[in-house]
Amino acid sequence: MISEKMKGFVKNSSAIRAMFEEGKKMAAKYGADHVYDFSLGNPNVPAPAEVKDAIIDIVTNEDPVLVHGYMNNSGYEDVRETLAEHLNSLYGTSYGAGNLLMTVGAAGGLNVIFKTLLNPGDEVVTMTPYFGEYRAYAGNFDAKLVEAATDPETFYPDLEDLGAKITGRTKAVIVNSPNNPTGVVYPEQVIRDLAELLERKSAEYGTPIMLISDEPYREIVFDGAEVPWIPSFYRNTIVGSSYSKTLSLPGERIGFLLIPSGIDDFEDVTAACNTANRILGFVNAPSLMQRVAARCCEAKTDVDFYDRNRRLLYESLEEYGYTCVKPEGAFYLWMKSPEEDERAFAAKAKDEEQILVVPGRSFGCAGWVRIAYCVSHETIEGSLPGFRRIAESYGLGR
Ligand code: PLP
Repeated sequence: MISEKMKGFVKNSSAIRAMFEEGKKMAAKYGADHVYDFSLGNPNVPAPAEVKDAIIDIVTNEDPVLVHGYMNNSGYEDVRETLAEHLNSLYGTSYGAGNLLMTVGAAGGLNVIFKTLLNPGDEVVTMTPYFGEYRAYAGNFDAKLVEAATDPETFYPDLEDLGAKITGRTKAVIVNSPNNPTGVVYPEQVIRDLAELLERKSAEYGTPIMLISDEPYREIVFDGAEVPWIPSFYRNTIVGSSYSKTLSLPGERIGFLLIPSGIDDFEDVTAACNTANRILGFVNAPSLMQRVAARCCEAKTDVDFYDRNRRLLYESLEEYGYTCVKPEGAFYLWMKSPEEDERAFAAKAKDEEQILVVPGRSFGCAGWVRIAYCVSHETIEGSLPGFRRIAESYGLGR
């Protein structure tokens, strides 16, 4: 009954989601306190108090017909205006409502932009490791996701390899900083070099290469790390943003695309994105949440909560002899598997210590695992003896 294409998607369906389900089963079996589930990027920090206040105020005091009604497919004009002004205050830009399109989370935004840009056979290049759903999103439009390497020490893009992977079929390059799964934040020089490469390649092939910056973790950074505003460095940039992580609202499905006026074919691209939002079946982003986003765009999540988890986990794992990338942003820790096949390591951690981590091949990078530390501090503390025992069993730290 189901389509050939869906058969493929179902077969390759997210290993992370499967693990999350497994975690729930294990919690029922062993008790939630004895399962250390680091599989999913589901924030454990509650949404800031402003969110609840805004919801109550909006449903109490705003016109219900307006609040719950249909609207322009791009979203409420006043909401987009408010968010544009907020971005302007942060980045010294001059965006207006016409530069924003409210989306069903970052995922919805990426599908809108891919639908807008991609013909069958087009290519989107990303750097390993990467958020595995990009492959399915490109596949939705019969385009191909092409993997380029990162530097094995820093996990910054390997620009030589990226340059080699860009061809006449490349429509877009997608970057994600702060990064899921490595926690790496690309510094300004990396963005400058990337922009220079993309200018050069666009000129070489005589067609613009769009840079898509997928930024759901922009505000979750540590030790004063700065996240450059990429449109300031590369004209043909579209930013995909989301409140899933920065306001802890992943189930509410709200985000936006920022499309600067200076990109090539701006009018066509925005008109197509508006239409794509509708015909993908989203119609528009959830109306109440749009209004909440406008009211709460200055609210902050509790970054210190993640930082506390990050420091305890990173310092402990390093002490036990594991090799980790010190996260500068997002809430993921990227750890080298003590044995070559990281799936075997993940299975051992699960079976022997009820610790759930995600094998790196879900992100196109074998030999590593991702630990999502957006969990309670007690989960981190409780997991440490198990991590230590596993390290000892591999003879680490001797
Ligand atoms: N992009 C990256 C890098 C992510 O990690 C995620 C979610 O984990 C998404 C996009 C999707 O975010 P959203 O829940 O806003 O759709």
